[in-house]
Formats: sequence, C-alpha cells, structure tokens
Amino acid sequence: MDKVTLLPCPNPWCGSHDDDAVPEGEDIWQHPALSPVYRVQCPYCPVKGPTASTEQQAITAWNTRATAPDSEKLREALTPSGDTKAAYSGEFKFDVMFPSLDEDDDEPVPHPVTVPWDTIKEIMAAIASRAGASS
Ligand SMILES: [Zn+2]
Repeated sequence: MDKVTLLPCPNPWCGSHDDDAVPEGEDIWQHPALSPVYRVQCPYCPVKGPTASTEQQAITAWNTRATAPDSEKLREALTPSGDTKAAYSGEFKFDVMFPSLDEDDDEPVPHPVTVPWDTIKEIMAAIASRAGASS
C-alpha cells in the first residue's frame, strides 16, 4: 500500500515545524464512534483538516488545504486593484475632535475622517514589502 505523504501543519506557530514533519500514524486520526469520519489532526496543535468519509479523502483534503493557497489570496489582497479599492475604500475611519459649534457645549465633537485610498495603498505596500511580496 502506498504511503501518502502528509504535508506539514499549515500553522506557522505549530511545534511540528521544529522537526519539520507531521508524524504519520494512527494517532493523527480521529475515529468518532458513531460514523466513519476521518480527518487529519495535527498532533502538536489544535489544527484539524476537513472531515472526510475515507482516510484517502482526509489526506487529500489536508494536503490540498496545506498547500497554502492563502498566500496567493494574501498577495491579491495586498495588491492595489479595482477589487481591493472597492473592498477597502471607506472601510477605515478615525475620529478627529473639533470644538463644538454649539456655544453652550464645551465638549469637543468627534468628526469621522475616512482613511484615503492613497494611505490604504501605502499600508498595503508596507505590509507586502515586509512579507516579501512586493513586486
Ligand atoms: Zn500543528
């Protein structure tokens, strides 16, 4: 029977990366009593793969999930485009306190200021650069 290699745990803080592999074996499987459900369970952290009805499907699901498709999504999310502009514009606000125009009221009044798209792009570029994703 062919042994299918499990990809390492996708959790970057997981201790399994210290010895660079998730050990294979019965202990990584959960066998709930009522139904034959399989999933890969990292032995070092709470990360679990998707449930499946066979071991093979559970391994495939874990490996598919662990190939880090998120990095592509993250790169897209940190790249200025029409989509990201539409997603982020107007999403970030902060309050600037101005004196009240009402003379009876000494309390400053908060005025919400929307973070401009140019500033959001600068933040995206800084994060992308730090992550080594700058183009
Ligand atoms: Zn783990």
